[in-house]
Amino acid sequence: MISFEDARRIILEQARPLGKIRRALDKLLGMVLAESVTAPFDLPRFDNSAVDGYGVKVSDAQGISVENPVELQLIDTIQAGDSGRVNLTSGQAVRIFTGAPVPADVDAVVIQEETQTVGNAVRIFKAVKPGDNIRRRGEEFQKGREVISAGMAITPPVIGLLANLGYSSAMAYRKPRVALISTGNELVKPGKPLKPGQIYDSNTVALTAALKTIGIESIRVYQAKDTQRATKSAFEKALAENDVVISLGGISVGAFDFVKDVAEELGIETLFWRIAIKPGKPVYFGKSGKKLVFGLPGNPVSALVTYHQLVQPALLQVLGIPQQASVPQQAILLEALRKKPGRREFVRGFAAYDAAGALTVKPSVGQDSHMLGGLAKANCLIDFSLDAERLNVNEPVSIEWLRWMSDVF
Ligand code: AMP
Ligand code: MG
Repeated sequence: MISFEDARRIILEQARPLGKIRRALDKLLGMVLAESVTAPFDLPRFDNSAVDGYGVKVSDAQGISVENPVELQLIDTIQAGDSGRVNLTSGQAVRIFTGAPVPADVDAVVIQEETQTVGNAVRIFKAVKPGDNIRRRGEEFQKGREVISAGMAITPPVIGLLANLGYSSAMAYRKPRVALISTGNELVKPGKPLKPGQIYDSNTVALTAALKTIGIESIRVYQAKDTQRATKSAFEKALAENDVVISLGGISVGAFDFVKDVAEELGIETLFWRIAIKPGKPVYFGKSGKKLVFGLPGNPVSALVTYHQLVQPALLQVLGIPQQASVPQQAILLEALRKKPGRREFVRGFAAYDAAGALTVKPSVGQDSHMLGGLAKANCLIDFSLDAERLNVNEPVSIEWLRWMSDVF
């Protein structure tokens, strides 16, 4: 058995981005830029007004105040989308709106709130400085400069920025195709009737959902009965058609657990088997060429917790998001916990702030690894370290939030 830290390190050492792919803007969300992006033109593209107001010459709007305004003749109106080719001479102003091009003759824009129109003229109540309320051409990015570097997660604002620069696609790291192999004679698809001894397959359904939340698009599910032949054939197909293979069940020491034997038979390089954790002791990790192979236990809580703690970080790294050690948070334990030394436990819990603003955590009811309800109602894992035997009430403990969705990027 190896430690959780070693297991995680070994996995993350192997989890590298796949090739690069060009994708349209509407297909990029949740991917990672594989190449840096440069500005194809100055941004802003042209001098433009930051406000609704009046374009003036600075020399016409000096030494003025509310009591002593200057009156300028209005000669034209420029709105967003106009070309902005207007000539201005001393004593004149031009009506201008936000985003409209600022003509070369205009050297400041007076915000509308500091003016008053009088017939075909405008009164200016405040002196201006050159450049006031003008967004300058190239002030954010100059043509040819790097705008975003490779490795940046593609969030909605990144997509907006790409569009701003006129790009309709970008280079990103290809998403992995992921196989889920469920093993077990007892498993039936939800919705079908159960015969005696059968149970519903919840693992492939829950893991499909978990994979979708981190943006995995290609998820194939393979079913294997508990024979070496069926398990082998599922693995062969899964390896041929995918980049990452995750099997569920059949990885322990039972007479009908064939995953490890099959991995050996197929020449998969074993990097570890069994971790000193609970739930999830029998976890297997190996490599077939560059393909990652995870053998997760079948108990639904073990499958999901080990996926969350070990597989999800690996997949994020394959997507191009380097994973650091998670930063634990401290919470006050509301119920004492006991265990035997020798395995690090991830106790399912619910953390919440109390009336005084302190973060507290309560262990879920139903901590056995087949009790999915205890995980379904949890929002964090309480870290019960390897050799500790008890955690006392009101003791500060380390928790790690369960992050099934969204904020993983
Ligand atoms: P195993 O790891 O194959 O020994 O399975 C451990 C326990 O998890 C057994 O009680 C199995 O019936 C159960 N189990 C295995 N696979 C699944 C699955 N896909 N969905 C729900 N329960 C499962
Ligand atoms: Mg089984």
